[in-house]
Amino acid sequence: MRAFVEVDLKAIAKNIKWIKRGTKAEILAVVKADAYGHGLIPVAKTALKAGATWLGVALLEEALLLRKAKIKAPLIAWLTPPGEDLVAAIKNDIQLAVPSVAHLKLIEAAGKKAKRTPKVHIEVDTGMTRGGLLSEWPEFLKVISKSKVDVIGFWSHFARADEPGQSSNTAQEKLFNKRLLELMNVGVIPQYIHFANSAATLTIPAVHNQIVRVGIAMYGLSPDVVHMGSSKDLGLTPAMTVKAVVHLVKDVPKGSPVGYGATEKTKSDTKLAIISMGYSDGIPRPTSNAAGVFVGGKRAPIIGRVSMDQFVVDLGKNSRVKAGDIATVIGGKGYSIDEWASAAGTINYEIVTRIASRVPRIYS
Ligand SMILES: *Cc1c(COP(=O)(O)O)cnc(C)c1O
Repeated sequence: MRAFVEVDLKAIAKNIKWIKRGTKAEILAVVKADAYGHGLIPVAKTALKAGATWLGVALLEEALLLRKAKIKAPLIAWLTPPGEDLVAAIKNDIQLAVPSVAHLKLIEAAGKKAKRTPKVHIEVDTGMTRGGLLSEWPEFLKVISKSKVDVIGFWSHFARADEPGQSSNTAQEKLFNKRLLELMNVGVIPQYIHFANSAATLTIPAVHNQIVRVGIAMYGLSPDVVHMGSSKDLGLTPAMTVKAVVHLVKDVPKGSPVGYGATEKTKSDTKLAIISMGYSDGIPRPTSNAAGVFVGGKRAPIIGRVSMDQFVVDLGKNSRVKAGDIATVIGGKGYSIDEWASAAGTINYEIVTRIASRVPRIYS
């Protein structure tokens, strides 16, 4: 195996238990995007065993995969654009988000076809200006109480919960409560109110309500290293480590141009290692010098541009690393997920979710 992802399911269980200790709410484990790259089914099973009682995904096909794996926990799919097979969703007891009157109509029609009452979660836009009901709200209030759906939940999403103390968080909370009252005033009483993502779960207990929707924290990562601190600061254990086999090691003289575009040259006589992963595996391309691998007991930084299937690291002249050795590429003893994110000018979410499916996952 030229490269692989080690997923520490015990770390995921530990993180769930840790989060559970800080809330009275039920935990909805967010397992969209192949469980943030960690593997949908193993992670979903682990999360439920560790105390999560709900699962959440973005797409209907992700929800259907969970049902196919005989996972019976309550499950929400919150991103179902027109054209999705809502009949299949309802028949498989997948709960759906309602972000508009049009979506409500489509869900009702599908319920009629499926001969079952659809279970829905009303999604309101409280300031993120992405999903959820906004200007249509008054019109929605007129139709919801007469509609043929079972309103299980009422929810919204924070735009800046990862910046504790941000005034927009309180503004969102206020509007959320107002919308909820308006809904109850037309006689619709949802059983489950949910608002908190990982950041709000960790920092705003007042918005935990009945369910918290936990994604990134379950994978042991900080929602925002700048405003909230590292995984360690938050008591979380990262679950993903990416490793690769060293493909080739060679001695190179000072001044050798490395890689496409010859963007870098060796600064002295040195040994280089070619690592068998590239940007098609999810190794971010713009990381030259700023990230690298851990091999032979030390760090070796990337030199030159990352290619599609390989990149080059500088081992130093006296390295004893040889072809076939295993390099830790991301996480573990290597450059952390957060270091890779910073090197690539992105966030840890993007690093883990973009590790390609061609890199096998190994579970422990
Ligand atoms: C992705 C997502 C979450 C989880 O967010 P984290 O920051 O990873 O905790 C929660 N709710 C919704 C609607 C999401 O799309």
